[in-house]
Amino acid sequence: MSEPPPTAEELGRLLLPLADEIDAAKAVPPGVLKTVAESGALAAMVPAEYGGRPMNHREYGELSRAVAHTSASLQSLLTVHGMVCASLSRWGSEAARRQLLPRLASGELLGAFGLTEDGAGSDAQAIGTTAMPEEEPGASDGPSADAGAGAQTWWRLDGTKRWLSFGQVAGCFLVFAKHGDRSVGFLVRRDDPGVTVEPSRPTSGFRSAMLADLHMDGCRVPADRMVGRPGFGVAQVAGSALSLGRLCVAYGSLGLAEACCDAMLGHTSGRRQFGGRLIDLQLVRGLISDAVVDTEAARLLCEQAARAMDSRGGRLIEQVLTAKLAASRAAGTASAAAAQLHGAVGLVDGGPVDRWVRDARVMQVIEGSTQLLQHLLAEESLQSFRVRRRDPRYPFVQGADHVERAGHVE
Ligand SMILES: Cc1cc2nc3c(=O)[nH]c(=O)nc-3n(C[C@H](O)[C@H](O)[C@H](O)COP(=O)(O)OP(=O)(O)OC[C@H]3O[C@@H](n4cnc5c(N)ncnc54)[C@H](O)[C@@H]3O)c2cc1C
Repeated sequence: MSEPPPTAEELGRLLLPLADEIDAAKAVPPGVLKTVAESGALAAMVPAEYGGRPMNHREYGELSRAVAHTSASLQSLLTVHGMVCASLSRWGSEAARRQLLPRLASGELLGAFGLTEDGAGSDAQAIGTTAMPEEEPGASDGPSADAGAGAQTWWRLDGTKRWLSFGQVAGCFLVFAKHGDRSVGFLVRRDDPGVTVEPSRPTSGFRSAMLADLHMDGCRVPADRMVGRPGFGVAQVAGSALSLGRLCVAYGSLGLAEACCDAMLGHTSGRRQFGGRLIDLQLVRGLISDAVVDTEAARLLCEQAARAMDSRGGRLIEQVLTAKLAASRAAGTASAAAAQLHGAVGLVDGGPVDRWVRDARVMQVIEGSTQLLQHLLAEESLQSFRVRRRDPRYPFVQGADHVERAGHVE
């Protein structure tokens, strides 16, 4: 019988001594990637029949939380690799699952997620990468956009994806393209013809996330590497991947916020100024307690969102958006407070506090910026309000009508 995978806390303890090494290298050293792969963390979103060690969303979230104590950059590997594995498991052809999932589960292949382009950041529907069906050399049936797995159709992809986390070392990329006005997902392999990968411009936060730009210039992929079908790409395949991604970022932000709170408590209870401990100053306590409240609220919202993902609950999207918004903001509040309370030590270039501040900023941009998520959350909340308003089990929601009517009395 194989060894049970380490718990989140065990993996966290194993990785923690490597935090400075990972950050200083501006890359995740191969030995660390091996440790993560051996822990089974990369197999968590792969069904057992394809060599996976499936976890529920709470367990996967807890892994993200634990890894983020060491490195938010490394945690982002769990985000994107998990998104690729989950999308392939759910939407991929049987041939692609058999070919790729066992290698993704073992860590032999890393998965990267390619949605963003120069002209398509928050507005994912604006992607300009194109997908055109092509006849396989020698095939007589001609190209067909509706051909599924097994048909003699190849697809030609042209376009450039930006900022792919772990793109520098990934072996396969889940990318999204447009066929006419319909979006569609494909798994592209690093060794596919027409693919080139180059490091992205370095970012201040997540500086060890090995970001890459992916160029596809006449890249040919077989039809069985289509993920979902035309029309399902951005809305369904990327949409469900992004829910998982947002949950992972929420848990990663929680881990980062926890690390900041612990550091603040440790530092201010040891550091003495004005004849006493910093922690005994009321203004200091205010900064700490605000960060603790935001962090604990984020924890509960993460758990609620993970439960919704596991049960495919009706308010899943709303609860995941809420968790990501709250937790990424908690990371911002806690890292800013930690930086303030560490004084000059918090400003040491490349030190942990400096790293948390830089990484927390990224948490509020990736998988949907704070403002985009506010926009989406208001939309989801409005829809659920409309449902509750019609449901007699929610009498107080109908009470809102009275307020509205009262406001319009002439
Ligand atoms: C470290 C890092 C890792 C990344 N990894 C990946 C990856 O693996 N795969 C991938 O595909 N992409 C990745 N990205 C790209 C990331 O997803 C985008 O940066 C993000 O979606 C935001 O897009 P943008 O940067 O083009 O900003 P824009 O879309 O140009 O938005 C800029 C700002 O405008 C505001 N804004 C945008 N939309 C709205 C709105 N609707 N309402 C109000 N305000 C709004 C927000 O303040 C937002 O921050 C990564 C980025 C970073 C920095």
